[in-house]
Amino acid sequence: MYFQSLSRRRGIGANSYLLDLDDTRVVLDAGMDPKAEGTESLPDYAQVPYDSVDGIVVSHCHLDHVGSLPVLMRRHPHARVYLTEACAHLSDAMLHNSVNVMTMKREELGITDYPFFTHREVDRAQHVWDEVSVGRSFTMGESNAQFTFFDAGHIMGSVGMLVEHQGKRIFYTGDVQFEDQTLSKGAQFPKDPLDVLIMETTRGGVTRRDGYCRESESERLAEAIRSTLAREGSVLIPIFAMGKTQEILMTLHLLREQDRIPAAPIFIGGLSTKMTVIYDKLADRVTRHHQDFEILEEMNLTIASRRRKREIRYQPHTIYALSSGMMTEKTVSNKFAFEFLDNPRNAILFVGYADPESPAGKIRSARKGDLIVLDPERAPIELHCDVHEYDFSGHAVREDLRAYANEVSPKKILLVHGDDDAYAWFEQKLSGDLPDAEIIAVEPGEKIDLN
Ligand SMILES: [Zn+2]
Ligand SMILES: [Zn+2]
Repeated sequence: MYFQSLSRRRGIGANSYLLDLDDTRVVLDAGMDPKAEGTESLPDYAQVPYDSVDGIVVSHCHLDHVGSLPVLMRRHPHARVYLTEACAHLSDAMLHNSVNVMTMKREELGITDYPFFTHREVDRAQHVWDEVSVGRSFTMGESNAQFTFFDAGHIMGSVGMLVEHQGKRIFYTGDVQFEDQTLSKGAQFPKDPLDVLIMETTRGGVTRRDGYCRESESERLAEAIRSTLAREGSVLIPIFAMGKTQEILMTLHLLREQDRIPAAPIFIGGLSTKMTVIYDKLADRVTRHHQDFEILEEMNLTIASRRRKREIRYQPHTIYALSSGMMTEKTVSNKFAFEFLDNPRNAILFVGYADPESPAGKIRSARKGDLIVLDPERAPIELHCDVHEYDFSGHAVREDLRAYANEVSPKKILLVHGDDDAYAWFEQKLSGDLPDAEIIAVEPGEKIDLN
C-alpha cells in the first residue's frame, strides 16, 4: 500500500492524491491550482497509468479539490466517482462555471489549453457519480476495502474519509473546521485510533489572536458596518462565492434581526447567487444550523444579474457582498472596486483568505494613499477607504488539528494542503507529542509506503 501526491509543487494548489491499496486504486480529490494557468494548474496525472483507477473521491466542491475532475475522469474511463449529494450539486455548478471562466481566458488571455473540458462533458460526467451519505460505508469494485464519509464542517457537503483495509485504518481529513460556523456545524471525525492520518495543514503557520471568539468577531464586523453606514458610506465584502458567501449572509441576517446593524440594501453578485440557490435547496438535507432558513427567499437581497455585471453601480448606505474573494481581475468584486476604494466614507471588509499577490492581498498590505493596481490593463487607483480584516475561517486552527492527531494517535501522519511554515510547525509539535509516530511533510510525486 502506498500514498502519492499528484500535485506539481508544494503548498496549497491542485490537490490530488493517489491511494494505492494493492487491489484498489483510489484518487482523493481532483483539484486545479487557482494560482496557475493552463497545464501548470493541473495535477500531474501522468504519474498514474492510464485507465488504472477504480474510484475517485471528492471531499468537497472547492476548485482546488474538484476543478480538474473531468480531466482525471477522461484518463480513467472505468473509475466511479464518490461524493455527497450536496457536493455533487455544488461541484456540477462549480465545473460549469469553470468552463465559462476558462473559455473567457482563452479569448482574453490567449491560453489555448483552455477549456480543459466542455459543458457537455460535465453533464455526462454525472452518470458515473455515486452520491454517498455521511456515515454509510461503501466499497469500490471487487475490493473489500470499506470507505466511510464523516462530516468535515468546512462547507456544505464537505467530508473526510475513513478507509479500512487489511486491518489498517487510514483517514483523509480533506479541508476541515472543528468549530461551529454560522451555518456549518463543526466536523464529526472518527475518534478511534488510526494507522495513517492524511491531514490538511492550511493554518499551520498562523497564530490566532488572543481572546478570539466567533461572536466577538461578528461584533467587530457589526461595528464596522454601523460606523460606515452612519457616515453614509458603503461596505464592500469581497467574498468567495461558495461557502463563505452563505456563511456571511446568514451572519448579516442575524445581526440585522438583533438590531446590531441598520437596515440597508444588500447586493450580491457573481457566482454567489447560483451557489446560494443550491445552499437553500439542500438546507434541510444536510447537517447545519438554521436548516429551515432560505437565504434568497427571506433576506430580500438585490441580485446583480451575471449578464449585466458591469451595471453594479455604487450607491451610498449599501452592503455589497461580491465575488471573487481575492478580487481577481475581471471578477465582479474587482470591477466594482474601481468606483469604491478612493472614497474615504467607504470600508472594505475582508472575511477570508487572500493570496498576498492577489489584488485583495495587495489592498490588505497597503496603507491609505497607496496606489493599488487592481487590473494591469487599467490605471491604478488610490486607496482611501477603511480596510478591516476578520477571521471567519472555514479551516481548523492548528491547535485543533494537533489535538485531533493526538486523540487518534496514528503511526504515520502525512501533512498535506499547507505551506512550508505550516508543515514546519506541525512537524515540530507532533514529533514532540507523538514520539513513536512518523511525521511526513508530503513532497510532490514522492511515494510513501503505508505498510
Ligand atoms: Zn476548501
Ligand atoms: Zn482546499
